[in-house]
Amino acid sequence: MIKKCQNHGFFRAEACACGDAGTLILNDEQTERLGRFISGALRHFPDDLGLAMNQHGWVDLDVLVDAMKTRYKWSNKEKLFSIIESDEKGRYEIKANKIRARYGHSVDVDLDYEENTLPELYYGASREEVDILLEKGIKPVKQRYVHLSTSVDKAREVAKIHTEDPVLLVVNAQEAQNDGVAILSATENIVLADEIPPQYLSLMTE
Ligand SMILES: [Zn+2]
Repeated sequence: MIKKCQNHGFFRAEACACGDAGTLILNDEQTERLGRFISGALRHFPDDLGLAMNQHGWVDLDVLVDAMKTRYKWSNKEKLFSIIESDEKGRYEIKANKIRARYGHSVDVDLDYEENTLPELYYGASREEVDILLEKGIKPVKQRYVHLSTSVDKAREVAKIHTEDPVLLVVNAQEAQNDGVAILSATENIVLADEIPPQYLSLMTE
């Protein structure tokens, strides 16, 4: 559910942090449906919706709104903004009437972010795959980029979606970058790379 506070904008809770109950913008089902639609449109199948995505992943905001309204008659631009602005993970960004997903692409994009500056990054893997990763490195499977986390906690959280008891790998980002591996900051928590060769990986010791 997404609501709007007159003073603080969109929020996903019963009440805004200021105590205001807000007005309802999207119920749970609508939030889920629009969320899936936006993710699909900006990460996986822009072509199917007639969205001309540029190489950096941007599509025209109004074209996306039109495609959304065609599918969901009850939707509109404000409802789209409510999803984007209340998204706690910062999955999307809007700039100059264009919109893009910040990460999670399966389509071929070339994202133009700043280089990450953290010396160490983290990746959570299942016990079954960890030996292969240490031997062959981390490569994207269905996604365009490998997604790394900026903290141990985030890496564990991400990995727990797929495996109950993740093993954590430490990525020596500084050395990788010194050797010319591009590692880009997508959000505060998520960093992207084409791949991480094995020599920059080590098992995290508890
Ligand atoms: Zn408020």
